[in-house]
Amino acid sequence: PPVPPGPGSAAGPDGDGAVGRLSSLETRDLSAWFGDHKVLERVSLTMAPGEVTALIGPSGCGKSTYLRILNRMHEMVKSAQLAGQVLLDGADIYSPGRRPADIRARVGMVFQRPNPFPAMSIYDNVVSGLKLAGIRANKARRDELVETSLTQAGLWIEVRNRLRAPGGALSGGQQQRLCIARSLAVEPDVLLMDEPCSALDPTSTRRVEETIADLRGRLTIVIVTHNMQQAARVSQSCAFFLATHDTPGRIVEAGPTRQLFEDPQDERTSDYVNGRF
Ligand code: ADP
Ligand code: MG
Repeated sequence: PPVPPGPGSAAGPDGDGAVGRLSSLETRDLSAWFGDHKVLERVSLTMAPGEVTALIGPSGCGKSTYLRILNRMHEMVKSAQLAGQVLLDGADIYSPGRRPADIRARVGMVFQRPNPFPAMSIYDNVVSGLKLAGIRANKARRDELVETSLTQAGLWIEVRNRLRAPGGALSGGQQQRLCIARSLAVEPDVLLMDEPCSALDPTSTRRVEETIADLRGRLTIVIVTHNMQQAARVSQSCAFFLATHDTPGRIVEAGPTRQLFEDPQDERTSDYVNGRF
């Protein structure tokens, strides 16, 4: 059943109620290990409700790990350990008794490589998001969610007449928007995107960026990107992560995107955003 609106809830700009409430996400002193290897050190960051937050930084600085901690995918790795807190609307998602599946239903993830079920129809791919989250919906409700999510993912007009075609028949960019629709079908409060455009051509990249822009204000989005122009275009807030050979990933600087790009407070941020890394 849908979560009743809590304090701080708000409808999206279109007011159609097709997304969850606007949630805040915050980490406090979050550290992470794989066995003895510490990969994140005391990461504190607030991702504001309805905003797009971009995570930037060189490869290996822990961005994907951080993202996977935010929806409890991290713990699927046996050697993974954590310290600190992850607060979704102020409540720790790692509190005893909270179930990972419930968290993943509220915090969706889109990966670098589009991963629809290739033989499954476009329609069923979207509905599979509901099934994975354990949400039951009747046919009319499924139809509605499929149309709404595909519309929000910017794919409805392209696929409305071939919803029974296999997901694998779509182009790479369309497949990625299908994956976004699949995540949106559960009406998540937060959408995590791990380099969602790095396998896409420039036109498809633009389409995904337009989708992100349309979703702004409707749910909380966290996107990892290596594309500085993309970070500047889609995000309102930005966090720069850095690790060295002997120090785990940590945030060097976080703040309004404009500030990181135009008036960085740390020389390393300036070097990174200007491609001098
Ligand atoms: P980024 O996304 O910024 O490139 P990652 O989060 O993927 O960084 O990786 C951060 C560090 O954690 C790297 O040193 C990487 O080798 C290590 N790491 C990532 N995933 C695993 C894993 N499943 N097991 C062990 N080490 C891992
Ligand atoms: Mg990564």
